[in-house]
This record gives sequence, structure tokens and C-alpha cells, in this order.
Amino acid sequence: MVLGAWIQDSELLRHAQLGKDLVFVLASALALLMLLRHNHQRHSEHRLQDAAQRTELRVLSQFRESIIDNAHVWINTLDQHGQVTVWNQAAERITGYGREEVLNHRRIWEWLYPDPDYRAWVYSRVDDMLVRDQVVSGFESRIHAKDGTIKIITWNSGRLYDEQGKINGLIAIGRDVTEHKCAEKALIERERQLATLMANLPGMAYRCHDEPLWTMKFVSQGCQRLTGHQPEDFVDNQRLSFASIIHKDDREQVASEVALAQAEGRPFAIEYRIRHQDGHDVWVWEQGQAAEIDGTHFLEGILIDISERKRMEQALEQMAIRDPLTGLYNRRELEQQLNAELASAHRYQHTVGLIWIDVDHFKSVNDRFGHLAGDAVLCQLSGLLQEQVRAADYIARYGGEELAIVLPESDTRDTQQLAERLCEKVARTPMQIPGHAPISITISLGVATYPTDAATTKTLFQAADQALYTAKQQGRNRVHLATPAPPHDHQPPESLA
Ligand code: GH3
Ligand code: MG
Ligand code: MG
Repeated sequence: MVLGAWIQDSELLRHAQLGKDLVFVLASALALLMLLRHNHQRHSEHRLQDAAQRTELRVLSQFRESIIDNAHVWINTLDQHGQVTVWNQAAERITGYGREEVLNHRRIWEWLYPDPDYRAWVYSRVDDMLVRDQVVSGFESRIHAKDGTIKIITWNSGRLYDEQGKINGLIAIGRDVTEHKCAEKALIERERQLATLMANLPGMAYRCHDEPLWTMKFVSQGCQRLTGHQPEDFVDNQRLSFASIIHKDDREQVASEVALAQAEGRPFAIEYRIRHQDGHDVWVWEQGQAAEIDGTHFLEGILIDISERKRMEQALEQMAIRDPLTGLYNRRELEQQLNAELASAHRYQHTVGLIWIDVDHFKSVNDRFGHLAGDAVLCQLSGLLQEQVRAADYIARYGGEELAIVLPESDTRDTQQLAERLCEKVARTPMQIPGHAPISITISLGVATYPTDAATTKTLFQAADQALYTAKQQGRNRVHLATPAPPHDHQPPESLA
């Protein structure tokens, strides 16, 4: 109509109508062609996309399988009937069973867990997961590998679901912890042994800082028995320092011995006294050495109570130098001490006094009251003399009822005074005799002095003995002084031996 209004000529109008139809047909054909082309393009794009997705999925699945297969941990999956559906290389390596033997079977259960009870127990854990929806983590089982060895595996397991969200099995990831467990067991065993050893040490083990307070970082339980203090009292000097319980006379020696050993790069071993909480001294033997832990220097070692050994040693020492009846020094010790005394007197220009004593008519004491009574008298006499002398003087039993007293740094006058006093004291002191009335005894004494009367141990003995002999001759119960030696006799002292 628009064309009719516009074009008046009918021929022209007809042509125009035809052209319009043609354009319409052409346009429609073109549109259809384009649609078809577009559809074709879309279709091929979808096809390409699908192919890419499939490739991607395949790569992904291969990747996943490769990861599972090459994992260092044992990975296997089970279906709902307990049949193995995945069995990776680590599973093959740990168990010794290849996937061709294992896949799609339940027999692996019997191989890994031949004991039926144990197998049932393990299976019950699998059931826990499958049925009761429990995730198992850190569960440990002992498997029998194909070569007969037993291995310890720790498990982490979880359920597997299909696309509809239904359970279709489970995945188990196992780690072979056999070596780790064995090492752990050995470590626990070693620690247990160490703890037993520490608890039963006849002393204590320690670790401390190498400094004057010996600040403790570790103290074993034996500390309580050894020192009377709790181990923690010493740790970081919480209540007291270890240095404070070391006998003050021994502290310097302990420090210097440790320092010397350190300087020479060797362990140290020392004996010293510590003060027990109840006040008595404990002799300890300590052995230790330097240790470096995380860059810090420590001393580590043990202390052992050696008080009993020290007592025995001291007793043996005393036995070796003392007379068993009277407890006085014996003859050998007298000789040695006098030798040492004269050597020192010579060096420092001192005098030394010597008193030689013999009981008067002692034989008659034995004869009248018996030998035991004589012994008792000898003991009382020894005690009496001991009371009268200075701490620096020493009394010895030379033999029989002959006694000697050495007076360091004493001249003839001092020595004579003491001798006189002893003579009187003995004469005035009644001696107790078992089963009898007390008796009186007297003694004779010879006095000699170094260097006045003699220059050597031997000649000093002789001079005192000679003086004693004179005292006896002059009537007993008296003191006699040695005759001074001529000046040329004044030579350095020599040993009696
Ligand atoms: P004196 O010295 O005054 O001349 O007369 P004495 O009788 O003491 O004579 P002497 O010193 O020679 O004799 C020592 C006696 O001492 C001889 C011995 O029987 C006695 N005697 C020696 N050792 C012991 C002893 O260990 N125990 C007892 N009970 N007697 C002893
Ligand atoms: Mg005699
Ligand atoms: Mg006598």
C-alpha cells in the first residue's frame, strides 16, 4: 500500500512488488543460512569443549592415580564388602603383596592379619567407619608382611561416597612406623634403665653450670638420701646452692680440681665433704666432665657417698699407726713423727723435747693381779698422760710398758716441767683394777731435748733412754735429764731406719 501510494505506474508497481518478495526471500535465506552457520559453530564448539573436558578429566584422573601410586604412604581403598579397589606402590612395598594378588579380593585380610581374633578386632574398626560413621585417625595395627616380618602401621581412614552421596567404600592411608616405633621403644627402654639407675644410685647424678655456686639444672632423686635436701632445692639455687653445702675446707680444692681437669680436657674425680641437712658431714666421691648442650657449657656427673669407705680407711690408717691396747701411737709412728719433727725443727731452728717413761715394778702388778689387770693399768696410765699433754704433743707406746712423749717446739725446761708434773700426777692417781681395790703406781722418766742433748732421732732416743735408766737407778718415781751432748754432735737429724 505504501508502494501503491508512492508509485502510480502499475507496471512499475508490479516490478517493485516482485523485487520486494525477492529481497524478502533472499533475506530469509540469508538469515536461515546464518542461523545454520551459527548452530553449526556452536555445535562444533560444544564438541571441542567436551573433548577438552574429557581430556582434562583423564589427565586429572591420571594425575590423581599417579599421586596415589607414587605416594610414600600406603594408600588403599576398599569397597563396602571389604574388597581392595586401590593398592598403591607403597602398599606393595610395605606388605610385599602385588596389586594383582590383592585387587578385588578380601584375602589380603587373612594375609595381613593371620590371627583370627586380631583380624576381627581390626575389622571391627573398619566397621566403625563404614557403619557408625566414625573417622579413624592414628589407629595402629600390626601386619604380617609377605616375607614374614611384622610391621607396625598407623592409619588414617575415611569414607568414600559416590555422586549420589551414598557410601561406597573407604580409603585407608597407612604409615609404616615400625622403625620409628622400635627406636621409640629403645628410647623408652633406655630412659627406663637410666631412671632405674638414677633412682638406685648410691648417690646422685647432676648437671650444673660451671661457676662458683655450681648452680644445678638437674639433680636426681638420690639427692634426698645423700644431702637431706630435695633435688629441686638446688635447681637454680631455689633454696640453696650446692656450693654452700660443700665443707668450707674443701671448697677451694673442689674448684681447683675441676678447673684443672677442664684445662686439660679430661674428666675430674674428687673426694670431699658435704654437710648433710641434719648437720653431719658426708664424704662424697664425685666424677664428672664438661658437656656442651645447645651452646651452653655444663658439668655433668655423679656423686657417691663414700663415708663408709672413708671410715674404714681412717680405721685402717689408725690401725696402722696406733697401738691396739692403749690407742697411743705405735713405735713405728713415733719414729716417723720424731724424724719429721726433727727435720722441721732443724729447718726452723726449733727445739723438740722427748720424755721416755717406764712403769716402775710393773712386773709385780702382773704378778699380783694378773696380766689383764696389768693391761687395764696400762690403759688408764695412757689416758692419764694423754689428758696432761698439749694437742700438739704426741704419745706413743714404744713397747711393753715403755712410753714416749714428743713435745714439738719445747726446750729442756718445758719438757722437764711436764715430766715432773706427769710423775707427780701418776703417783697421786689410783689405778682401778677389776675385782680389787685401786692401786698406786709410779713411773720413771728420762728427758732429752733436741738439739741440746742430741742432733739425731737415734741419739735423742738414746739420750732419753739413758736418762730414764739413771732415774731408775736413782730410786724410780722421778725425772732425770739427759746430759747435754758436746757441741760437735750438732748435726742435721737423720732417719732411724
Ligand atoms: P722396772 O721397770 O721398775 O725396773 O721394773 P719392771 O717390773 O717394770 O721391769 P721391766 O720394765 O723390765 O718389765 C716390764 C714388765 O712389763 C714385763 C712384762 O711382764 C710387763 N709387760 C710388758 N708389756 C705388757 C703388757 O702389754 N701388758 C701387761 N699386762 N704387762 C706387760
Ligand atoms: Mg720396762
Ligand atoms: Mg718397768
